[in-house]
Amino acid sequence: MADHAFDIVVVGAGMVGASFAARVASTNWGAGLRIGVLEASPFVMPDLSQTFDPRVVALTEVSRQLLSDVGVWQQIASRRTCPYRHMEVWEADGTGHIEFDCAEVRQPSLGHIVENALIVEALLQRLEALPNVTLLCPAKVTGLERLEKDGSVVIELADGDRVTTQLVAAADGARSRVRELCGLQLRQWDYGHQAIVTTITTEREHNFTARQRFLPEGPLAFLPLQDEQGDCHRCSIVWSQQSEKAKELMALDEAEFCRALGQASDHCLGEITAVDKRYCIPLWQRHAVDYVLPGIALLGDAAHTIHPLAGQGVNLGFQDAITLAEEIQRSLSRGLSPGELSGLKRYQRRRKPHNLGMMATMEGFKRLFESQAMPLRLLRNDGMKLANQLGPLKNQLVRQAMGLGG
Ligand SMILES: Cc1cc2nc3c(=O)[nH]c(=O)nc-3n(C[C@H](O)[C@H](O)[C@H](O)COP(=O)(O)OP(=O)(O)OC[C@H]3O[C@@H](n4cnc5c(N)ncnc54)[C@H](O)[C@@H]3O)c2cc1C
Repeated sequence: MADHAFDIVVVGAGMVGASFAARVASTNWGAGLRIGVLEASPFVMPDLSQTFDPRVVALTEVSRQLLSDVGVWQQIASRRTCPYRHMEVWEADGTGHIEFDCAEVRQPSLGHIVENALIVEALLQRLEALPNVTLLCPAKVTGLERLEKDGSVVIELADGDRVTTQLVAAADGARSRVRELCGLQLRQWDYGHQAIVTTITTEREHNFTARQRFLPEGPLAFLPLQDEQGDCHRCSIVWSQQSEKAKELMALDEAEFCRALGQASDHCLGEITAVDKRYCIPLWQRHAVDYVLPGIALLGDAAHTIHPLAGQGVNLGFQDAITLAEEIQRSLSRGLSPGELSGLKRYQRRRKPHNLGMMATMEGFKRLFESQAMPLRLLRNDGMKLANQLGPLKNQLVRQAMGLGG
């Protein structure tokens, strides 16, 4: 059993926790802080020489910039990323159709599709190189107590070690143990949907286009991938389905699945010629009522999980990381502890309305596209057509989706 002491402890070295730790540790004001990162799972890099990680994210420019600022974007880009320059969204059950192009907003791309494992690997290597960061892994948080006498927080780990700190930044994912240990309340509901994720090969090249087709059962996304040789016949898919239907699709053999997917995608890239191993992920919406307590702050999926239909989950988490770092800097510049409640509350005030707004928008989209009621079908068909024709409105939509603001 050992005792450790840090100024800030980050729980969870997923994309959000690791980027937050790297952000704080690589600033001038954070260089003197001792930062501990606790990660429950031993990180084992999957062998991605013949295949792609089935979990990918569509990164906005703001997220890409954060990864660049903390010194990992170059490494990620030198491995494998795929910029997407166009986006097409259309409805299976009508004539609604909208397209976006990066030229319309004078950007080189609308975003980048990147495999989760590549982002985490680059961030962990960066953390290991930062002299003021200690990465404890595997280190699973099992207990937590805040001491009234000095406001410090004492964390217990599964192996009996104890860690003392002034601030716990909890980025331990959707089923956050820290959130539970602190008694922070959660609002959650089951979407009744499961997302089938996998990598597919298509007859035609994707032309750097992200595609989303709204089917009555749920949205189907094709996210373009590019291998090291520049081949553009692979896409990562996220196929949201009602749970029963998802089970049926998972039970199909490869050829049957490819046929079903070809039909569901309207053969937008021709036939589906191959599919990798499929994974099925239950979809829940979760939002913590409060993100903060004295000495504790939730960020990323620990604070909110959102339907993947707009690919915004980790992008919101990265913005949490940026904002929390700014508020810690402000507290330190005023001679306060990083765990000071006033700074943490400012973080919550800045992030919660934004995250809630995005969650409400996604919920609205999901309901609008699920509904078979005639007035809503007309609204979405006409709405998409109108938005497609109105340049300024379209630009505003795309700039918001890119995280560039209105
Ligand atoms: C199908 C699907 C598609 C998606 N597509 C997109 C997309 O295109 N764009 C996008 O922005 N987002 C997308 N998302 C969302 C995105 O994947 C998540 O928002 C993101 O992975 C959350 O990162 P995180 O670091 O907050 O949490 P996680 O990735 O869950 O990391 C949490 C970490 O904490 C560790 N941990 C857990 N418990 C403990 C403990 N007790 N002690 C110590 N460590 C612990 C875990 O091992 C893990 O490493 C998608 C999600 C799904 C399901």
